[in-house]
Amino acid sequence: MSKKKDTPPNWHPETRALHAGWHPDEPADPVVPSWEPSTVFTHPQTGLSADSWSYTRLGNPNRTQLESALASLEGGKEAVTFASGMAAVQAVFHMLQPGDHVLLPDDLYHGVRNLILGQYRRWGLTFDFVDMTDIDAVEKASGDNTRLLWMESPSNPMLKITDIAGLAGLARNKGWLSVVDNTWMTPVMQRPLDLGADMVLYSTTKYIGGHSDSLGGALVLGDAGPGDSEPGDSEPGDSEPEDAGHGLEKVLRTYQIQAGAVPSPFDCWMLIRSLKTLYARVRTQSANAQLIAGRLFQHHAVEKVYYPGLSSHAGQDIASRQMEMPGAMISFQVKGDAAGAMRVVSASKLIIAATSLGAVESTWEHRKTSEYAESPTPENLIRLSVGIEHPEDIWNDIDQSLDTLYQKDANVNDFQ
Ligand code: PLP
Repeated sequence: MSKKKDTPPNWHPETRALHAGWHPDEPADPVVPSWEPSTVFTHPQTGLSADSWSYTRLGNPNRTQLESALASLEGGKEAVTFASGMAAVQAVFHMLQPGDHVLLPDDLYHGVRNLILGQYRRWGLTFDFVDMTDIDAVEKASGDNTRLLWMESPSNPMLKITDIAGLAGLARNKGWLSVVDNTWMTPVMQRPLDLGADMVLYSTTKYIGGHSDSLGGALVLGDAGPGDSEPGDSEPGDSEPEDAGHGLEKVLRTYQIQAGAVPSPFDCWMLIRSLKTLYARVRTQSANAQLIAGRLFQHHAVEKVYYPGLSSHAGQDIASRQMEMPGAMISFQVKGDAAGAMRVVSASKLIIAATSLGAVESTWEHRKTSEYAESPTPENLIRLSVGIEHPEDIWNDIDQSLDTLYQKDANVNDFQ
């Protein structure tokens, strides 16, 4: 089984999503790539070389297929995959040294915040959570020891929009590494490498997987970036594949195989399957969300809607420049308190009350109860991940669930 299969560069991403990573081109090749569970592979007669498989932590056919497909879709040089999104996050932080300073959005996925506060603070990393919609504030919060700029746009759960090109440009001028957590967008809707970022991060658990049945993470690296000379260019202890590359790519590949938080061959196989429908799924989800966000905005029981496809959204201008579609995540506050929002969530008959996001089924949750205790997320906020069901069915379910705010004993603050 050959290690890399490139698709013609003139194929559109929708086509590459189906054929990058694996495309049968020899007689009797399976149309679907085989799942390769073996952890060890026989050596060739000339001994182990970079062209042969050796041990699954170091490399596996399914992982290579997935990584080349992800790099191809993102327009990146290389993708490095992990056992979860958080393992990918951790790989980025492990590139830093004690005393280094990190800039992060003040409204970011709470798991990243927890990791920094719970683990990396005691390892001597310093950090600031900043409002990334304000580039001057980001620059002001930086210091001589700043090494990493972390972006997430739209942010989670308030859907703040960051000017990725502006901030990536600032990072490049200052010599900081820039990373965008693009989990909510996928390359279908936003391509941070084209906007100048050094790296894109995914929890593939969400839209890339799309079916709530596979946990994973990925980092996709662009062509340029400060990584060709820094940071922490460590030497591999395991027998690293010789084509591991240079700079960031080499550091991350080495970390991946040494730390060992790699995705299983089966998860990689599942993700290759999911990628085939990525464009169709995500575009449908985003179109559904646009319709639902507009109706929520007009609903008398809704106080505020956060969705970058609405002209009322503060970041709509930047969003329309850097995003192809506004996405399928909507946050909204009901006219009521936490109990009211929870009652709405539990009243749904179609939308599944669950955390996480990006699956083909619509899900929603009372967001604050999924976050850390002091989270600034409003008490009455519901986060909705719109699926591929018929949008009228999703809307009817939301409408009937919002009706529970009117029920006797409902604690509703304000109805016009
Ligand atoms: N980034 C974002 C934006 C997320 O929403 C999540 C998970 O919810 C992660 C990263 C972490 O991914 P995982 O749960 O796959 O570790």
